[in-house]
Amino acid sequence: MPFIFIFLFLLSLIFASSCLGPFSQKKAEMNIRIDTTGKTKLSYEQISAMLEKLAQSEAPKELSMGAMCYKQAGPPRRAEYICPDCGHRTLYTEDKAAFITRSLPTILALLHNLQAIDLTLDQSQFCKKCKPEIEDPQIGIKIHYSDTNYVHEYQGLNDVDLELIRDFLEGKNEHLSYYDRGTPLKNYIPRLEQVLGVKLKKE
Ligand SMILES: [Zn+2]
Repeated sequence: MPFIFIFLFLLSLIFASSCLGPFSQKKAEMNIRIDTTGKTKLSYEQISAMLEKLAQSEAPKELSMGAMCYKQAGPPRRAEYICPDCGHRTLYTEDKAAFITRSLPTILALLHNLQAIDLTLDQSQFCKKCKPEIEDPQIGIKIHYSDTNYVHEYQGLNDVDLELIRDFLEGKNEHLSYYDRGTPLKNYIPRLEQVLGVKLKKE
């Protein structure tokens, strides 16, 4: 009988070491310190080097399968956008209604996880009073890198983009998409380059 316990103990040791192994190795490789308080922001050089690390990293061997059956109520077909600057209400239907009720709150909530980057969000296109000329409103992002003079601007941001940036800053190698299905984060490098305005550093 005690042999079973010894066997189980050894088994748990093997399991623990296999779990900890890649993690501690990854930590050692990651020589860029990320300041989560947001006092010092990441530079272009640092993000570029981090992208290169991600490109060189191994994709996770086992990806999360996600929930198989998960029923979610459909988004509302009409929704009002209330401008945080002027208070004007703009009515949206269908896709844009879904965007302002689902994606936009997620985007705003995710900003807290992105304090390592000097970024500002522009949602003004969604207000018909502030931007009457806009027909297809998009969320814009502006990123300032301390080591470059240029400010990167991108229009057409969605909630998944900010999830990708969050995962990237947290040093993850897997992105959990809808229903928690996992995808290697390195698959999204082109999108990260586009949204962050940074090319990965080739050495
Ligand atoms: Zn407005």
